[in-house]
Amino acid sequence: MKKDILGVKVDDLTLSEAISAGIALLEHPGFHYIVTPNPEFILSAKKDEAFCSVLNQADLSLADGIGVIYASKILGTPLKGRAPGVDFAQGLMTYLAASGLRLFLLGAKPGVAEQAAKNLKVSHPGLQICGTHDGYFQQDEPVVEAIYAAKTDVIFVCLGAPKQELWMARYGFATGAKLAIGLGGCLDVFAGNVQRAPKAFQKAGLEWLYRLMKEPKRIGRMAKLPLILVDALGARIGGKNRNG
Ligand code: UDP
Repeated sequence: MKKDILGVKVDDLTLSEAISAGIALLEHPGFHYIVTPNPEFILSAKKDEAFCSVLNQADLSLADGIGVIYASKILGTPLKGRAPGVDFAQGLMTYLAASGLRLFLLGAKPGVAEQAAKNLKVSHPGLQICGTHDGYFQQDEPVVEAIYAAKTDVIFVCLGAPKQELWMARYGFATGAKLAIGLGGCLDVFAGNVQRAPKAFQKAGLEWLYRLMKEPKRIGRMAKLPLILVDALGARIGGKNRNG
């Protein structure tokens, strides 16, 4: 079931339920895409109708940031918990390695997707990575054709938001893939260029703080994030967000 978090629909799933739902999409005919909203997405979607609509048409929408969980609580429609994109991707790759489905890595700076592919083949023996492409291309068609020619089943689309969501909605079907997932900076993590927060930070819901410590230049971007909680409080008091 989806819950409305300030206009963005988010699936109320634990991480393992989300992974099962992602696998189930691979068994349905047609193209599907998955989005991983964090507070920045929700704040942008408020001002960007096209982005909001693409988010709300996704087959699965996973709560990526702790701020989304706090907002859901303030709104009186609590979500079960976070399903971070990077953990979702790990779970899905375990299934892909076992089933022989083919994965294409799209995004990040030149060389990063190739390094990520090397590391993932070691961490997920049997994983079929059928191609990679950096995320700084000028023309979309050659990239779509490369994904199609690689007989791709699943694409990790790591172009940052909202570019990756708009790209999946516009070109996903033409790639011939069954599933695309918007995964932000995940390829940098898989390539080993960016470290994930230690488990203690993750459990305490402080992954954002670790990231800020490692990349202080993100302070400008992050300073806006508490706004989602202010918005949630306003909506709760105003009675605008009462749902399931
Ligand atoms: N990126 C890209 N093409 C672009 C802009 C960004 O491939 O035109 C990549 C960027 O190199 C990074 C990822 O998209 O690997 C987005 O990272 P960000 O930290 O913004 O995403 P987050 O993890 O916060 O969602």
